[in-house]
Amino acid sequence: MNFASDNAGGASPEILRALVGANSGHEPAYGADAFSLQAQEALSRLFERDCAVFLVTTGTAANALALAALTPPWGAVLCHEDAHINDDECGAPEFFTAGAKLIGLKGAQGKITATALEGALAAYPRGLVKQVQPAALSLSQATECGTLYALDELNALTAIARAAGLQVHMDGARFANAIETLGCTPAEASWKAGVDVLSLGATKNGALACEAVIVFDPARATDLPFRRKRAGHTLSKGRFLGVQMVAWLENGHWRALAHHANAMAARLATGLADIPGVRMPWPRQVNEVFTILPGGIDRALRAAGARYYDWGARGLTALEAPGADEVFVRLVTSFATTPADVDQFLKIARASA
Ligand SMILES: *Cc1c(COP(=O)(O)O)cnc(C)c1O
Repeated sequence: MNFASDNAGGASPEILRALVGANSGHEPAYGADAFSLQAQEALSRLFERDCAVFLVTTGTAANALALAALTPPWGAVLCHEDAHINDDECGAPEFFTAGAKLIGLKGAQGKITATALEGALAAYPRGLVKQVQPAALSLSQATECGTLYALDELNALTAIARAAGLQVHMDGARFANAIETLGCTPAEASWKAGVDVLSLGATKNGALACEAVIVFDPARATDLPFRRKRAGHTLSKGRFLGVQMVAWLENGHWRALAHHANAMAARLATGLADIPGVRMPWPRQVNEVFTILPGGIDRALRAAGARYYDWGARGLTALEAPGADEVFVRLVTSFATTPADVDQFLKIARASA
């Protein structure tokens, strides 16, 4: 019953087999191998245009390098205050951009509102030399609250950003889970909705360690080969990154993995919603369930060995906040979660309600 995160499990057996398969023979180094080229082609097909693709091993590197390509050191990146780039990357975006400022915007359920975005743009006027210059908008899809921007919300935000001369980055650590729920094409959820650069995460959705920086206009990617190398993310045996992406995409494997992860979260959310005293402050949209548990249920689950994070009161309004004997927790499912894990968790929760 490990619901700590979607990186608590291992890697998909298909991807591990593909890695072993890529082990024999010799290949050009530093990403010039056949697998990396295949990954680039497969992603271009998937996104329905020729993209520039830079594979790296962590989402932090993908985000930080992507943002470095979008902002000068005196620029600002507008993001949600709870965004991974703002809260969980130890200053990597600031470091790789050589000091650009991250500005955290408010918004319920992890989502930036148009009003907050317009407010920030007004607070940092173009050309005012004493202030950083807004250069990029960064949106997380899915958000850190496990919620989604609907396509119309996405289009509205990117239109405001573009009109103000900003480029748009998307943190897609859980892009696969998002696509699974949105039911649209990857192109519709990214460049067709105004996204310039996407950090596409494969690791949390079944890869061993593989994330892609995807630049939809390759003409804007000319400095990224140097930035990636300088960051120490140009793997000499690049084939092992390329093959992970190829295997992840092959035969819709990425969709199947995300489908399973989301389905396990749906099973968990539906079961929990029926238990007296359990509160669900936000809708379950991807593979994360945020729930307020009565203390007794939390204690019983932990005593039985269930693993998950206490989320404090992060993102909750005063009305939603946990009461005296309640805890707000995050439960994350993955391709490796089994229905038996979920059912066991629900059984214990029900019995201690
Ligand atoms: C996990 C995650 C990342 C990537 O994190 P790494 O640990 O650096 O791979 C980026 N953004 C979001 C929203 C995440 O959840």
